[in-house]
Formats: sequence, C-alpha cells, structure tokens
Amino acid sequence: MRWMLPLFISLSTLSGFEFDLKPQRITPEITCFFGEPEAMNKSNNGNMVNTCYVDTKKSYVVIDSGSSYLYADAAYKAMQKIKPQPVELVINTHVHDDHWLGNGYFVQKGVMVLGSVDFVYNSIIDSPSRIQTHVSPEAYEFTVPTRPTEIISEDKTLTIGDQIIELHLMKKKAHSDKDMVVFMPKIKALFAGDLVFNDRVLSLRDGDINGWIEALDYLDTLKATTIVGGHGFRTDKDAAKMTYAYLSQMRTEVREAIVSGIGLDETIKKVKMPEYQSQKMYDTLHRGNVDAAYRMLEWE
Ligand SMILES: [Zn+2]
Repeated sequence: MRWMLPLFISLSTLSGFEFDLKPQRITPEITCFFGEPEAMNKSNNGNMVNTCYVDTKKSYVVIDSGSSYLYADAAYKAMQKIKPQPVELVINTHVHDDHWLGNGYFVQKGVMVLGSVDFVYNSIIDSPSRIQTHVSPEAYEFTVPTRPTEIISEDKTLTIGDQIIELHLMKKKAHSDKDMVVFMPKIKALFAGDLVFNDRVLSLRDGDINGWIEALDYLDTLKATTIVGGHGFRTDKDAAKMTYAYLSQMRTEVREAIVSGIGLDETIKKVKMPEYQSQKMYDTLHRGNVDAAYRMLEWE
C-alpha cells in the first residue's frame, strides 16, 4: 500500500484547479474562510460557504469541511502556512452539501468527522450533489461524498487541547431537519452553521420557520460574543440579528395574510419586505421563502 500516498500527491498536484481561499483571523484562536454571498456556480466553484479552523494549541478543530475535496485541500494548506499542526477533528453542522463535501479529504488523512443523526436518515445524502451539478468538473475533482465517521445523537461536550467544545443539537427542524451548532465556552464562540446568514437572503426551502426562530432564541441564551454563520461575513455578538429579524417579520406578515383569508399567490405578491430587497439573492430566494412559510403556517 506504500505506493498509494505518492499517487494521491501527484493526482492533486496534477489537477488544473486551485481554490484561492483567503484565511481571515477573527479572534486569536479562530481563522475562517468566508465564501461569496451567492449561490454555487461556475465562477465561485463552491466557495460560497463559511468554514473555520480553531487552534486548540495542539491541533485544529475544523467546523464544516467545505464544498469539495480541492476546497478542503486549499483551506488545509493555507492553515499549514500560518501554523503547521494537524487537524484533530472535523464537525459538520448540517447535511447541505456545500458544508461537508470536503469530508473525504480529512477522512483520507484519518481525521474523525462528527455529524448529526441526519447524516444517517436524510435521503439528501444519497441524492446527486447540488455542488457537482453547479460547479466546474475541475473544481469537483477527487470529491467523494463521505459521511461523518461518528454520529452525534445527543448534546455532547469534548475537550481538545485547551478548548472545551460543546455540540448542541437543535430540538426541532430549523434550517434543516437536524442542525448542530458548536459552542466553545472558553472563548464564547458560536459556530451556528446555517441557522445564521448575513450579507444575503437565507433559504427556508428545507427548513421550518417556527423551529428556526425557536433555535435562534436558544442560541441567544449561550451569550456568545463571536458568532459565525454558514454564510456571510459578520461575526460579532449581533451576527444572528438579521436572520432573526427577517424570519420574525416574515412570520408576522404571513400569519396576518392567512388570518385575513388571503391565498398563497396573493401573499407571495404582498409580503415583499422591501427593506431586504438590496440583499444579495433576494430575487432568487425571497418569494420561495414566503411560499415555504405560508405552507407551514397555514396549518397552525
Ligand atoms: Zn444549509
């Protein structure tokens, strides 16, 4: 088997595609790679998601492995240039493929990957990846959809290096069927996955508006001073505010429409929420979000 390692190295060197990922240090311990606030396409090639490295003094903990093998490789190499040390653990926040298709890269290195029970039951895992159909084949090269090596079915606390790592599973469907957030109490840092969006309109298509608002109320009780969402650049203590305000306003307006007996199509035309019109992805996602909210709330 000894010949396999040089083979991998030469394959990855031969690949024509290289992600230009820029590490951004947001606290002394946390460095993140912020993706473009847009949908996956052939120009960002899947660099439209946030992933982070936490330095535990003896190793890195990675939150979300990114959208492909080559994305994970580029992030890893950028971090080794800053401080060479191994990755000890990768945590997947949820099953949407832009957040975990880099798993194969780390599993090949023998790194443990944690994900929620959703990775066992959600059929999304086995359907053809959205990333693969939207990015260029060169950017997707070497990517093998790889499940977490360990499944988390209840809240858990781990210690790695000098960090305490709390895994919190959301009780209800929120952004996805089972969102898992990472909280590090010593540095009051919260990695909220796609429960927090900034700098673009969120996607409610696969979620539940009531569960999502409830999840954000819960995250608020953690009193984090640094909050990193799955998409967008804002990372201060109020980084979840825009997501909360957008969902709350939508729920209020859609409920009002339902109570007044207004149908789905009219509600979609009515609930425009113009203050969000300048946000990226408003045109592609907002109407669908109202549609999804209406279908959930009409059963209340
Ligand atoms: Zn997502």
